[in-house]
Amino acid sequence: STRIRVGIVGYGNLGRGVETAIGLNPDMELVGVFTRRDPQSVQTVGENTQAFTMSELDRDRDDIDVLILCGGSRSDLPEQSPAQAGRYNIVDSYDNHAHIPEHFAAVDAAAQTAGTTAVISTGWDPGLFSLNRVFGESIIPQGATYTFWGRGLSQGHSDAVRRVPGVAAGVQYTLPSETAIERVRAGENPELSTRERHTRECFVVLEEGADAEQVRTDIVTMPDYFEPYDTTVHFITAEELARDHQGMPHGGFVIRSGQTSGGTTSEGTKQVIEYSLALESNPEFTASVLVAYARAAARMNRAGDIGAKTVYDVAPGLLSPLSPEELRKSYL
Ligand code: NAP
Repeated sequence: STRIRVGIVGYGNLGRGVETAIGLNPDMELVGVFTRRDPQSVQTVGENTQAFTMSELDRDRDDIDVLILCGGSRSDLPEQSPAQAGRYNIVDSYDNHAHIPEHFAAVDAAAQTAGTTAVISTGWDPGLFSLNRVFGESIIPQGATYTFWGRGLSQGHSDAVRRVPGVAAGVQYTLPSETAIERVRAGENPELSTRERHTRECFVVLEEGADAEQVRTDIVTMPDYFEPYDTTVHFITAEELARDHQGMPHGGFVIRSGQTSGGTTSEGTKQVIEYSLALESNPEFTASVLVAYARAAARMNRAGDIGAKTVYDVAPGLLSPLSPEELRKSYL
């Protein structure tokens, strides 16, 4: 078959999303899931999906065109991406923005030596949002760029809420400020403080006998996490948490606003570009982006374009299952 053969490395939320997304792309097929856990203990979405131990990848398998790495950014990918790029074409979603340059260098060294192609830090942020920030600034050099996140479930802030004494369970959503977005859309180019950009909303199940007002105070005054924001705390039951807060929604906006003539004042010629995402499932969407970039990675490697790459290095047409001729004819 000429289908692109994909392996999934690491099977959490993202790994499950990739498995499902491959099923929606007829030009791709899944070889299997590779996990550090006992493969017998891993319950895959598809009943025919095979699970293997990670060491199965140590021999250079010739039945894999590209691996999609679905491990965590904190400690899995810094190790797994360079290791696997030394043997296979890979795609990852490394999202620790401050450390992307080091991650790129480590993966590039492995990929250059092995002759593989490794697309790092794709997904939506980093990923599609990164592309839109650069489109905006390249096209409208005079102006300001804004990224707003949400409404979205934040894993790190939810963990912080759950560490507060008296909290039995809880989740945290980040919300973009509607007022701020309206000002940006109107072309005001406002200077926005942290507090003006986003608000935070917590849904908390209290432990038996916990003091609600104390818990609220402990949350809203927590330095870095909540103190710099306007935070609302709602107390709910365990049943409500289970019923209403199991999803992993996310999304946001990248807006570039500027002037193409007439200076930066309100008399200037205003231009506004907006890109937005409204996601019911952050991991399923991120997985869908990774699968499209896996197609590009396999094609780039076939064309001899090796080494580490980011979304800035991948031509958009390579993401599409359609040929360049079809794209020119029907989409241009
Ligand atoms: P996750 O569910 O915690 O999975 C991470 C790893 O943990 C898996 O690869 C898996 O490795 C292991 N694991 C999963 N479930 C387990 C369990 N029940 N018991 C023990 N180990 C388990 O994380 P995720 O939600 O898939 O997210 C992965 C990464 O994606 C995040 O760290 C984030 O950086 C990135 N991300 C990026 C974007 C973007 O826009 N760029 C967006 C969303 C997420 P093994 O199978 O090897 O055990």
